[in-house]
Amino acid sequence: MDLQNMHETLQTLRQTFRAGGTAGIEWRRSQLLALGKFLHEQEREIADAVFRDFGKSSAETFLTESGFIDGEIRYALGRLKKWMKPERVPIPLYYYFGKAEVQREPFGVVLIIGAWNYPLNICLAPLVSAIAAGNCAVVKPSEHAPCTSNIIAEGLSRYLDSSAFAAFQGGVEETKALLQERFDFICYTGSRQTGKEIMLAASRTLTPVLLELGGKCPCIVEHDANLRIAARRIVWAKFLNAGQTCIAPDYVLVHRDAEKELIRLMKEELARFYGNDPKASPDYPRIINERLFDRLAELIRDGIPEAGGDIDREGRYIAPAILSGVSIDAPLMQEEIFGPLLPVLVYNSLDEAISITRKNPDPLALYLFTSNSSSRGKVLSATRSGGFCSNDLLFQSAIHDLPFGGVGMSGFGRYHGKAGYEAFSYERSVLYRSLYPDPRLRYPPYGRNKFSLLRRIVTLFG
Ligand code: NAD
Repeated sequence: MDLQNMHETLQTLRQTFRAGGTAGIEWRRSQLLALGKFLHEQEREIADAVFRDFGKSSAETFLTESGFIDGEIRYALGRLKKWMKPERVPIPLYYYFGKAEVQREPFGVVLIIGAWNYPLNICLAPLVSAIAAGNCAVVKPSEHAPCTSNIIAEGLSRYLDSSAFAAFQGGVEETKALLQERFDFICYTGSRQTGKEIMLAASRTLTPVLLELGGKCPCIVEHDANLRIAARRIVWAKFLNAGQTCIAPDYVLVHRDAEKELIRLMKEELARFYGNDPKASPDYPRIINERLFDRLAELIRDGIPEAGGDIDREGRYIAPAILSGVSIDAPLMQEEIFGPLLPVLVYNSLDEAISITRKNPDPLALYLFTSNSSSRGKVLSATRSGGFCSNDLLFQSAIHDLPFGGVGMSGFGRYHGKAGYEAFSYERSVLYRSLYPDPRLRYPPYGRNKFSLLRRIVTLFG
């Protein structure tokens, strides 16, 4: 990345924003439509790029990336006018006459820093929110998915207004250089460790941040659950993207009475999805790079493979692995796995399961399979997580109306749908006052009688 060029581009973006052209609904709409056009016209090229990065199938790329972003665009287009309307709020009687409202205003020039695991989705879904809210934006895709990073950069310059949007490619050094510049808002998706560095860099200019981080998402399976459907859905959610999903079930906690049957069914479903040799399946992706592969190859030793676990470093392939006999103190249970290893741990009571989940607090998502609504209520009230889904997985992030984000160590701030529009705007409190009445009562001097009258009015109407 050429630093001089970066600086000049940012100045252009800032001038565009100041000129006010991005504020109108027509401009926002035109840019959302242009982004949609990019996704449609380049669908095959996008799918090829993601495939070259880590062997993800075009079906998975459509379902989890381009199709979702397209849905976000259509959702925003249909509601933009309503979202942009100022929100009237009532005012107390003694402030009459006047009108008060909340106006959602764009921040200005925002920075979107993406991770590699959903390389398109993580950059462009926040961009939809940024455009809808009337911002200019810089997108920094992940260097670990270079083909997707290229196509994003090309797509933005070809389809969007280049005086308002830019993509900068590169790695850590380039991101650090970008962070030396002043932005009005930063949306970061990636690891906790880097999240802290982003926040530190943002604090220099008091820039607000939205952090989408990771965590260890538990999936609890009660003895009264429908085990066939639980097994099918867990296997699907875990091994999609080869386990490299921030909201994938990191580990399963199963009631002792259901353990054997759940493992048997999960093995069956696994074979149904990917065949007896997942390496030959066109639907099973690879690990993004050798560094992550080596980490996973080490972690896999912490369990007994009930299924899968074969590894091939050259092909960055790890067969989807279901692991039993994992100790709660093993390295596998200390940090987010972020790969196709599924530890299955056993519990005796729901209280015990809940206390195990607390060893890794604040996951991005928590899952529960049960047919008992009081068990569901108990888990919901006794735990904390960015999202929750019972009797299924991942779909809480696919519903445009549900804000998406973490809590505590898994991040803060929300986006998707209206939450995204709000995240990329600031709320301006606006009061329109009439000049009259203008009673002397509000102004000094405040004698004893005046003060006592004022106190009565404020207490009565305030
Ligand atoms: P990554 O290595 O691609 O890094 C993300 C971005 O940060 C990249 O653009 C990279 O250039 C930049 N970066 C890395 N180190 C930096 C530094 N020191 N200073 C400045 N910028 C730096 O991705 P990752 O961190 O490996 O991502 C995986 C993590 O992201 C997992 O923990 C996963 O759970 C999480 N994640 C969260 C979500 C979510 O929505 N909450 C979504 C996807 C991934």
